[in-house]
Amino acid sequence: MLRVTKIEPKLFSDKKRKIKKPKESTAWRELADIREDLRSHILTQEQDNMCIYCEKKISASSQKSNIDHYKTRKLYPELTLDYNNLFVSCNHNAHCSSYKDRLPLTKDDYQNILNPLSIELNEVFGYTSFGEIEPLNKKAKFTQECFNLNHISLVEERKLIIQNFESYREFDEDILVECLGGHIGLIRELKKEKK
Ligand SMILES: [Zn+2]
Repeated sequence: MLRVTKIEPKLFSDKKRKIKKPKESTAWRELADIREDLRSHILTQEQDNMCIYCEKKISASSQKSNIDHYKTRKLYPELTLDYNNLFVSCNHNAHCSSYKDRLPLTKDDYQNILNPLSIELNEVFGYTSFGEIEPLNKKAKFTQECFNLNHISLVEERKLIIQNFESYREFDEDILVECLGGHIGLIRELKKEKK
């Protein structure tokens, strides 16, 4: 999961002001005309073109991502237009937002899910040499399960990066993220390790 800082863009604030019932989940439909621009803004300006949950690179031009309500509209309709609740996720069916949205989560569950705005994120995920995310506390473990961050496809990608990292090590972080398809958390972790 990426840790990000959010600053609400004008296109969103302007639109929000015109919506009569902003605290109802149906308010989201009224954003149809700006959603594409909003998605692109969040993805490029705040997330460096990576999925907020699995950290894989997402092409900004493709239909491979969606704006996710981290706290679902069903449970928290009052947060439908809360900018700090909006993140861009990949569209993979078996992990990230689609996976989370199929779980029968309750408001109590959300007490145990890490938020991409939380500072805690910097220290609660490690990685095994086989490419699995290793949660370092209970909350991180539950978060990993809610987004299925150890889905086989993610684990295989991370494993390949780990196995070949010595030949990549000399490159700068941004180049590695670009060439290896995201995975910034893993790359940072590997960079820290012994040379
Ligand atoms: Zn993802």
